[in-house]
Amino acid sequence: MTKTKGIARRLTRRDVMKSAAAAAVLLPMPALAQGAAGRVVVIGGGFAGASCARALKALDARINVTLVEASRTFTACPFSNLVIAGMRELTAQQFGYDKVAASGVTMAFSSASGVDPQAKSVTLADGNRLAYDRLVLAPGIDIRWDGLPGYDEAAANVMPHAWKAGEQTTLLRRQLESMEDGGLVVISAPANPFRCPPGPYERASLMAYYLKTKKPKSKLIVLDAKDAFSKQRLFQNAWKELYPNLEWVSLSSGGKVTSVEPSSKTVVTDFSRHQAAVANIIPPQKAARVADLAQVADRSGWCPVDAMTFESKQQPNIHVIGDAAIMGAMPKSAFSANAQAKVCAAAVAKLLAGEKPVEPRLINTCYSVLAPDYGITVAGAYRPKDGVLVDAEGGGVSPIDAPASTRAAEARYADGWFNTITAEVFG
Ligand SMILES: Cc1cc2nc3c(=O)[nH]c(=O)nc-3n(C[C@H](O)[C@H](O)[C@H](O)COP(=O)(O)OP(=O)(O)OC[C@H]3O[C@@H](n4cnc5c(N)ncnc54)[C@H](O)[C@@H]3O)c2cc1C
Repeated sequence: MTKTKGIARRLTRRDVMKSAAAAAVLLPMPALAQGAAGRVVVIGGGFAGASCARALKALDARINVTLVEASRTFTACPFSNLVIAGMRELTAQQFGYDKVAASGVTMAFSSASGVDPQAKSVTLADGNRLAYDRLVLAPGIDIRWDGLPGYDEAAANVMPHAWKAGEQTTLLRRQLESMEDGGLVVISAPANPFRCPPGPYERASLMAYYLKTKKPKSKLIVLDAKDAFSKQRLFQNAWKELYPNLEWVSLSSGGKVTSVEPSSKTVVTDFSRHQAAVANIIPPQKAARVADLAQVADRSGWCPVDAMTFESKQQPNIHVIGDAAIMGAMPKSAFSANAQAKVCAAAVAKLLAGEKPVEPRLINTCYSVLAPDYGITVAGAYRPKDGVLVDAEGGGVSPIDAPASTRAAEARYADGWFNTITAEVFG
């Protein structure tokens, strides 16, 4: 599948390089020539931010790009479900920023603690201040700690969310490993929108795989705040075939979790109480806090943006990409974040040069691994319409009746996708 290689709209890396070369030769940058423009600060060095910072430098090496990132090591969420199931180590998820810095991006390892949209400056926790002409926010998500009664930061140490990869991932894995055979595992899946729509179901599959191979008397229940989810038929067909001990309870069947009781690991719905041996609570989410500081998040907690440039609809000169943004039909994924980053970089470079951004086309592909030799995919194409991203022609899901060889091949493609995107962003 060539999808493993394609990342953003029609713009490939080679195109970026080509247009960067052309721009350098043919287009004097008026704003840069005045010496006033050309400073871009990117906050968040994940799939969106690191991709955007590098793409900006590739487009025009003269743009002064600073990437602000709170951590020196990035821990990737994609494939972290395999870590929970004991099929992969957390170190395989971790990446540094040496290559990002080597590509000409200035790294600022600190947390952005303030944004002044009027003064066009960012304050860092280490006391430094950075002035910008354009700011790109790519901070990912925060958990809504007020979104589920009983679930706060202390509860997450007992009932992990593991929706930000790292310690939480390891904690959930350890809990599964130390659970007795015959225990009940509960996953609570949130309502839309949230990071990685197929993620809870991939996780359920891989935790069920772990239980089937290591603790076969155990049972897994997914309590869901939705009636429908990404790749649903594919997941449910696979569960019937592979994991009879996995039960999915929809919203209409009373699946919505209304509160949790961490002291007894009890998960409560309107109709039932489930005392779990392991409870994985995936709570409601919102754009990470710096979006509030920059005044770009709306009442939904997410950031509305213009679909052509990803410039905030609330603050000029600030762009928001990745999970933090409202992207219409485009799901919150690492693939999407990387695609949006390239479109945003191209738009920012044009705007700095006093030119008009071009209308983008974007694609997204999400692989889910349900067992070591069982993968499925959803792919979509998107274009701007009336200020938001809508579905464009193309896209689809893996065939419903595919042979085992196709499922095995898609699991391999998933591996190829992870290696390709992380090499492109961090390598
Ligand atoms: C279990 C799971 C499985 C997934 N599987 C897939 C998959 O198979 N395929 C796929 O495409 N996607 C997958 N995703 C989704 C993917 O991880 C996210 O969509 C992606 O990480 C979004 O990228 P981002 O750059 O917006 O945010 P992130 O990757 O989270 O990066 C945000 C960065 O911003 C930094 N930051 C935040 N605030 C500040 C601040 N104030 N100052 C400095 N730095 C800051 C953080 O430290 C972080 O490094 C999965 C997610 C989960 C949870």
